[in-house]
Amino acid sequence: MREVVYPITWDLDVFFEGGSESKELRNHLDQVKEKLKVFGERLESFTTPTSVQEASKIVSIIDELKDIATNLSQAGAVIGCFQAQDTTDKKASLLEGEIGSIYAKFSSLLLGIQQTISKTPDEVWAELIKTDELLEFSFVLNEWREEAKRMLSEKEESMITALGVDGYHAWGQLYDLLVGDIRVKVKVDGVEKELSVGQANNLSSHEDATTRKEAFEVLEAAWTEKEEFFAKTLNHLAGFRLSIYEKRGWESVLQEPLEINRMKQETLDAMWGAISKNKAPFVEYLNVKSTMLGKEGMHWYDLDAPVSASTEKMDYQQGAEFILKHFKEFGPKLESFSRNAFEKGWIEAEDRPNKRPGGFCTGMPVSEESRIFMTYSGTMSNVSTLAHELGHAFHSYALRPVHWMNRQYAMGVAETASTFAEMIVADAAVKEAKTNDEKIALLEDKIQRSVAFFMNIHARFLFETRFYEERKNGIVSATRLNELMEIAQKEAYGEALETTHPHFWASKLHFYITGVPFYNFPYTFGYLFSLSIYAKAINEGANFEEKYIALLQDTAVMSVEDLAMKHLGEDITEEEFWIKGINLCIQDVNEFIQLTNAKG
Ligand SMILES: [Zn+2]
Repeated sequence: MREVVYPITWDLDVFFEGGSESKELRNHLDQVKEKLKVFGERLESFTTPTSVQEASKIVSIIDELKDIATNLSQAGAVIGCFQAQDTTDKKASLLEGEIGSIYAKFSSLLLGIQQTISKTPDEVWAELIKTDELLEFSFVLNEWREEAKRMLSEKEESMITALGVDGYHAWGQLYDLLVGDIRVKVKVDGVEKELSVGQANNLSSHEDATTRKEAFEVLEAAWTEKEEFFAKTLNHLAGFRLSIYEKRGWESVLQEPLEINRMKQETLDAMWGAISKNKAPFVEYLNVKSTMLGKEGMHWYDLDAPVSASTEKMDYQQGAEFILKHFKEFGPKLESFSRNAFEKGWIEAEDRPNKRPGGFCTGMPVSEESRIFMTYSGTMSNVSTLAHELGHAFHSYALRPVHWMNRQYAMGVAETASTFAEMIVADAAVKEAKTNDEKIALLEDKIQRSVAFFMNIHARFLFETRFYEERKNGIVSATRLNELMEIAQKEAYGEALETTHPHFWASKLHFYITGVPFYNFPYTFGYLFSLSIYAKAINEGANFEEKYIALLQDTAVMSVEDLAMKHLGEDITEEEFWIKGINLCIQDVNEFIQLTNAKG
């Protein structure tokens, strides 16, 4: 009965014909550069608005920003696609470098605009922002002004940016270099292999217990050998960040990450509070799992071990139909949007060499389309990934009627639509599993996600906040970093761990990312926030879709607290809200334990 065959490779020619050598793309980039140059010259005469009559001046700046930003993003997105589909495409790498420098120019112009607007006196601003022309942009414009006010002077900030290249970001790059250089020897399937860190990390889910343990131990030894290098890198990176916070008068290290995520401290505290009080079922799951593995307690190197052998496979066409069938139960728009994406070649899923690992969804804002990248090999986890990325694409689709200014959502809510879509498919897969073994494997896959967000990410958050506090008083030694990490892991895993991973602070790239601080709690926020929307959707059925779309359309124009109150009627500064989402995850654990008990 299958009448349509969905293409397994994407169509990029609709944007720019001819791949990375495209003449159209070349012309497009030259045009963007020229526009940026002209805009920069025009901005030299852009002075601080001092009267309510100047609203149109700001609007015309916004129009130009939008034009340049969307054209730039579209080119950047397509170039990213070229690189992902063929890592040997050298022309695409060159183009990436070029687009990076255009982005940098755009960002500095934007910063200048924000600084200029921030100097408008408050009384004038209060009137300006109420004008018909600017009212629509009031949230973002106010945010720009607040941000600029919290910064030092334009001169000082530009000096910080310049010094940051060698004094801050360089530490992050040094980290990549140090890790890239590490090789370890592990025996895999009886053959000794020399592996990179990434390859050795992948052995954490190897079916053979000895291989998992050996990979962990050789890695831990490698981190120990170089711990002084990593400790120095981490200390100086954090030191630079703290010095700037001090100069700007920012007391809490969480101020910046909370502002980026438009989130209150109370919300973060309520989320971790609810999680901390509900660790017991996940501890029980870890205990059951260690017993299934024939061990007395849970060791770090067994956390990712598979508990059930093979799971059902689906070819790409079946996977697509499976997703569409279950999306339909939640809403006709999600289904028809996704069907269109499958039919029109929005997805690159072919399993072939030279593709980048992983998956992503990228938006083409000029054409109002998205493109999804992944490698589909037929596992249920591939089907979930595909659903996840379609969720991201649906978020962009929902934002179509919204102005560019009001589409710039933060990391915490970025994963809302994706997790929601993934949840639909993961739940359906569990329900449709043909055997108990199959069901156990699929449930475990879901529980592993909860363990990652409630335990692993929690440990990262606990470690990072404590480390930054101690760093305020001076250098923190490698020995102390190990201690802090062990304490954080024991606490975050509810004392369920038999052995910990003390050098996790050295092994995890996220602590060394300089682009965004505290690259951890927004993951957990996004997961639980999305789960609570999912719970509402289950209760309300397909009628929920319009409400869901309205929520997505507001993701970049209000704080997360206001978003939840307006669309869910929930106060997310209270623990009760978070407990509802956690309870859904606990149900998975209960079902898992029941099924594994029945197996005997
Ligand atoms: Zn995602």
